Amino acid sequence: MQWDRRSTLAALAAAAVPIPALASAAVELGGTKLVLLGTAGGPRVRKNRSGSAQAIVSGGNIYVIDCGYGVARQMVLAGLDLKRLRHIFITHHHSDHDIDLGPLLQLAWLTGLTTAVDCWGPPPMHKMIADYLKYEAYDIGVRQRDEGRVPLRPLIHSHEIHGGGPVMHNAQLRVTAARVIHPPIDLALAYRFDATDRSIVISGDTRPSDELIRLAKDADVLVHEAMMPDRVSQLLRSLPNQRALARSVLWHHSSAEEVGRSRRPRASRCSSFRISFPPTIRMFLTTNGLLQRGGIIPARSWLAATSC
Ligand SMILES: [Zn+2]
Repeated sequence: MQWDRRSTLAALAAAAVPIPALASAAVELGGTKLVLLGTAGGPRVRKNRSGSAQAIVSGGNIYVIDCGYGVARQMVLAGLDLKRLRHIFITHHHSDHDIDLGPLLQLAWLTGLTTAVDCWGPPPMHKMIADYLKYEAYDIGVRQRDEGRVPLRPLIHSHEIHGGGPVMHNAQLRVTAARVIHPPIDLALAYRFDATDRSIVISGDTRPSDELIRLAKDADVLVHEAMMPDRVSQLLRSLPNQRALARSVLWHHSSAEEVGRSRRPRASRCSSFRISFPPTIRMFLTTNGLLQRGGIIPARSWLAATSC
């Protein structure tokens, strides 16, 4: 499994933009930007990491990939205007990737969104959005009548994706999906975003996947999930379902080592691990020389990959 793009290594320090700088950098929109909004793995709520979510800002529009817990607040903290939300892409229907899909739509509307948002993902996207709007129908109805807001339902366009291939394109971006391996989920997708100035690939959750490697060929940035197998049992030790959970985690994710092995040094400009356990993973990467091999950076929230 290889990428074959040769490019210069982006320095980690140059890629990390503090939050206040990010607020202006991302919104002023000099080019296509990737912002990592949530990098935690798994469905548990954590003190200092948010659920899986990324934003791509291009041409004044915001494209959100996955809606893990806290995505709307992470966007606000990153200086991203919720009213600029135009597209949402869900990689798969584990709750740590989609639990805030409905709340993000509603919160963007409550912030003043008046334009359409297209929501893309595997089935049952239509049902999930319809059910969420039913769940919040009372509040939505009250605010439409009492506060004079535009109706929310007509703004939301849901699209179900049934496999890999072209997804959508507009003046700023072309989006392509690939099926990845994440059992027992029926359909899990990675997405590639090709803008005029850069190409960005988001893996979602996956075991090592040749389709993902093909999708990421010549891309500038790959955000890839990773875990550390020999730490999984230890980290889940206190949970009553630890045995089943450990088996599940090991079965349908990629180890940091597998991800590191799958790419040549200096192959793609910048690959970012979206990981569950940052100090451990960073230590692991350093010990194994993966950071020094070039272009691999541990992901953390609000990291704006401006130099990748
Ligand atoms: Zn998953």
